[in-house]
Amino acid sequence: MSKLSRRAVVVGGTALGAGAIAAGGLATRNVLRNREPPAIAAQDGQGHLLWSNWSGSAHSYPAARAAPQSEEELLSILTRSPAPVRAVGSGHSFTSLVPTEGTLLTLDRMAGVVSHDPVTNRATVRAGTRLVDLGPALAAIGQEMINLPDINKQSVAGAIATGTHGTGRGIQAIHGSVVAMRIATPGGEVIDCDAGNRPEVYNAARVGLGAFGVVTQVTLQNQPLHRVAKRVEVRPTGEVTEAWPELRAQHRNVEFYVLPFTGYSAVITTDVTDKPVKPRGPDADVDTLMGLKKLRDWFEFAPGLRRKLAGEEMAKIPPEEMVDEGWKLLSNERPVRFNETEYHLPIENQVAALREVIAAIETHRKDVFFPIEVRVIAADDAWLSPFYGRESGSIAVHAYYKEDYQFFFTLIEPIFRRHGGRPHWGKLNTLKARDFAQIYPRWKEAGEVRRALDPQGRLLNPYLKGIFLDG
Ligand SMILES: Cc1cc2nc3c(=O)[nH]c(=O)nc-3n(C[C@H](O)[C@H](O)[C@H](O)COP(=O)(O)OP(=O)(O)OC[C@H]3O[C@@H](n4cnc5c(N)ncnc54)[C@H](O)[C@@H]3O)c2cc1C
Repeated sequence: MSKLSRRAVVVGGTALGAGAIAAGGLATRNVLRNREPPAIAAQDGQGHLLWSNWSGSAHSYPAARAAPQSEEELLSILTRSPAPVRAVGSGHSFTSLVPTEGTLLTLDRMAGVVSHDPVTNRATVRAGTRLVDLGPALAAIGQEMINLPDINKQSVAGAIATGTHGTGRGIQAIHGSVVAMRIATPGGEVIDCDAGNRPEVYNAARVGLGAFGVVTQVTLQNQPLHRVAKRVEVRPTGEVTEAWPELRAQHRNVEFYVLPFTGYSAVITTDVTDKPVKPRGPDADVDTLMGLKKLRDWFEFAPGLRRKLAGEEMAKIPPEEMVDEGWKLLSNERPVRFNETEYHLPIENQVAALREVIAAIETHRKDVFFPIEVRVIAADDAWLSPFYGRESGSIAVHAYYKEDYQFFFTLIEPIFRRHGGRPHWGKLNTLKARDFAQIYPRWKEAGEVRRALDPQGRLLNPYLKGIFLDG
């Protein structure tokens, strides 16, 4: 993708020169649009320091902060510290799951691999471990996670708590690999659970949003370390959507990014290989996105020209391939901040929904330039998993962090809902308790388990109250 970006920037710049006289109004618009979002105060009136998530979409001023080193310390915080007590992983959720005016709790000091079994390829890991650290730690014992998400900055517990997923044929989201879990509750218990022991806790609290207790460790079903070839190829979007069922059947991991207003998509496949190592080059995320942004900035009101210029460049981009161990290739760096909504749809509805999303954006939101991400995830049986009981096709829409994202809710979400989608727990959506009760078959049972583990609602912040109680 690096060549695309550099060329696109050059093309955009050249055309800007040609059209400069007519573009005075646009220039002003672009300057205004490119302003940083208003700064949030670094502390509140009582001197409590700001906490903010990665994208800047959620923040709060916790009265207390804690970083326990043991389950004993954790239990004392859970039972005594000011509520709401909210666990934070790496703060990469877009939704307001974490903000609290009570206690913010990190498990950063409860990280690392506890034990492993070379025969079953299982490893027990502390919940505060970051995925980026887990990759090399597992590789050292000959294991790798079955899949990884687009980035690896998340904590293990944070990723599991929101149903974080990658993409791939028959491959479940990360929580699908959790075979056992230990959770500390505000009632003062530490519960070890799995499919046979306290199964109701295992089923309800695995994708638990930090609303059932604080997970302290999980046992992951991993797989032996593999070398993989990752290939990136730019192809016409129409061709890719037609070939999507075939692509899903052919590759271990496959996804594509629709590049709106260009007619093209970037298809990314990853397959096991014995080819020699060819390490990934420098990441081109910034170049690519800023190239697409520049085209948007100057050709927003000339979509035909925008499409033509982008298309001409993209048609020339050769496929790119890298070969290495999977944990080094599956996740990416995403230095350009954005906001995001993502829904998981019944797989059979995915392409129809995607076509509607592309048409809606290209008709009504000519300011959009971020790619639309399309993935596939296998069914699982966690009660609050968006993939509960059905293979799902996900569609994610992004907006640059400086720009408006209200169109997620007015334009895109209605399409997803009409197609039977369930939102990603960590990504922006407007659903409340009554909506979730309709789209999750085991919603009621999960609610009963939550009330039993946290009868006083010490873990519920306003956002979670909207999800579990009164929305
Ligand atoms: C750039 C970017 C790329 C992303 N890519 C993907 C992707 O490819 N696939 C995908 O599915 N998602 C993706 N996400 C979303 C992200 O994976 C989820 O939001 C994930 O939850 C973030 O993990 P975290 O450690 O930052 O958790 P946080 O956002 O800090 O917390 C998430 C939830 O986990 C809970 N939690 C944290 N620790 C514990 C604990 N010990 N016990 C119980 N609950 C706990 C929190 O209370 C909260 O409810 C992406 C997000 C960003 C910003």
